Amino acid sequence: MNESRSDVLARLPLREDLRGRTPYGAPQLEVPVRLNTNENSYDVPGEVVAAILDAVRQQARQLNRYPDREFTGLREDLANYLGHDLEADQIWAANGSNEVIQQLLQAFAGHGRTVLGFTPTYSMHSIITVGTGATWVDGKRGLGTENADDPNQFDLHVEQTVAQIEQHRPDVTFLCSPNNPTGTALDLEVVKAAYEATDGLLIVDEAYAEFARPGTPSALTLLPGRERLVVSRTMSKAFALAGARLGYSAAHPAVQDAIRLVRLPYHLSSLTQAAAQAALWHSDVLLDTVEAIKAERDRIVTSAQELGLKPAPSDANFVLIGGFADEKALWRSLLSRGVLIRDNGLPGFLRVTAGTPGETTTFLDALADSLLDAPVPA
Ligand SMILES: *Cc1c(COP(=O)(O)O)cnc(C)c1O
Repeated sequence: MNESRSDVLARLPLREDLRGRTPYGAPQLEVPVRLNTNENSYDVPGEVVAAILDAVRQQARQLNRYPDREFTGLREDLANYLGHDLEADQIWAANGSNEVIQQLLQAFAGHGRTVLGFTPTYSMHSIITVGTGATWVDGKRGLGTENADDPNQFDLHVEQTVAQIEQHRPDVTFLCSPNNPTGTALDLEVVKAAYEATDGLLIVDEAYAEFARPGTPSALTLLPGRERLVVSRTMSKAFALAGARLGYSAAHPAVQDAIRLVRLPYHLSSLTQAAAQAALWHSDVLLDTVEAIKAERDRIVTSAQELGLKPAPSDANFVLIGGFADEKALWRSLLSRGVLIRDNGLPGFLRVTAGTPGETTTFLDALADSLLDAPVPA
């Protein structure tokens, strides 16, 4: 064990295109206030815990058998939850929307193909793309602005979206609405125009859709007549079930048939299926926290403005805040006060998850204190 692991790794017969890559790694630190991975801060309510335990207990006896490979009941429940006249055969599910995305890329991207996304965006889109052997193209957002700390620079516009799709002719295009880490939902005109501009698959990642401000339409409304459009969702955020690992998508049934070519058989355990179904039967209770979280999100936006910072308008359970002279120093200062938020590597910006009222107050107090040490530049 004298040799370092990285020396051994360098010698291993690893795929050349994976050499020098870094894995996804949001810090998982034990601090009092964790607002760095957009989890739902509320524990699962007792009545939902009881329902999940009942459902899992019933399955436990049959763990000698493989699960329903088609997770039929779960797909029906997910279709019902989504509404929009969706049918169960339009729904797919996997262990987190990350796996849904991986399966989509295995079927529609892979070696020799290109995938376009518009950065800054969810880093897993590019990481999974590379993992499946495809080439990631870093698309640009914003029309160029004088102020580097202006959050509007992250808006995605129709013309620039279409131009980049026409330039790169990707096999798969990602849109993310509300976008992570910027927080703002996408104008559906961008989705429509992107679909028209490409012959490839268009994935709209709507992980945070439940938190959108009133009047924000979902790309689910665009599914009829668009057989290359996929909308992905997750139970990790609004449903407070990040630990259960359940993501899903809605698309034309033929898209989901394509996924069946690459998925591992029985990829969704019977325990996962049972837990997710029990949670969906209590979706009203689980989603009760969404309004409370949105209120805290809006409080973060207002308070950050009052502190002279520049928060981006948010349709998600987090806020991207700009205007920091030294975001890395501020991140450390917050951590020393027991508050963990996210540095997405955007100069001048930090992202914070909206938690409980108590967590939000702790964060805002720590932020105000930290800014006393390092004021916002005039
Ligand atoms: C958090 C997040 C997800 C969730 O991934 P899961 O695998 O479902 O937990 C997906 N997309 C985006 C943009 C996210 O921020």
